[in-house]
Amino acid sequence: MMILMKHIIREGHKTLETVASEVRLPLSSKDKKTLKEMLEFVKNSQDETMVETYGLRPAVGIAAPQINISKRMFAVHVTDFDGTPYSYALINPVLKARSNEIIYLPGGEGCLSVDRETEGITPRYKWVEFDALSYDPENDKLFEVTLRLEGYIGIVFQHEFDHINGILFTMKLFEALPFAKPAFETEQVFEATS
Ligand code: ZN
Repeated sequence: MMILMKHIIREGHKTLETVASEVRLPLSSKDKKTLKEMLEFVKNSQDETMVETYGLRPAVGIAAPQINISKRMFAVHVTDFDGTPYSYALINPVLKARSNEIIYLPGGEGCLSVDRETEGITPRYKWVEFDALSYDPENDKLFEVTLRLEGYIGIVFQHEFDHINGILFTMKLFEALPFAKPAFETEQVFEATS
């Protein structure tokens, strides 16, 4: 199956507010398929032809609960402003460390499960460190990773990590965050949801 917008559940659905379950190991073929399809969806959503053909909303990440699978898995496919690519299908991520410093995405975040316009900013750690299992669908390999993620990229992963904990960014919208800094200073343009 190819994930399409109609498979994505929206705000108000119980699964989006449920803490997802640990993924059992070894990975089942069903979970492998889900991981592969989630990563494919994010890649497809960044392909102009696919977007036009299937009416996809451009995204940088998707979490299993968003396709109504309450398991601790998400996929991210995004390139940092310096050109560094981050492409992962993660299983059972654990937040190992984080900054004290708080940042936010100027202009606010977006989400495949939220169709309405939102106002406000969402506090995120300046950097985070996750331990996780990473699945490579191309080679059917599973390996341990420790990821230290900063700034915008860190925000993307925190947004997805929130999803597997039953949290939507709309649950933490603030008009202002006096002690936080913007993730970037300039008006870098990006239209990414996750
Ligand atoms: Zn989201």
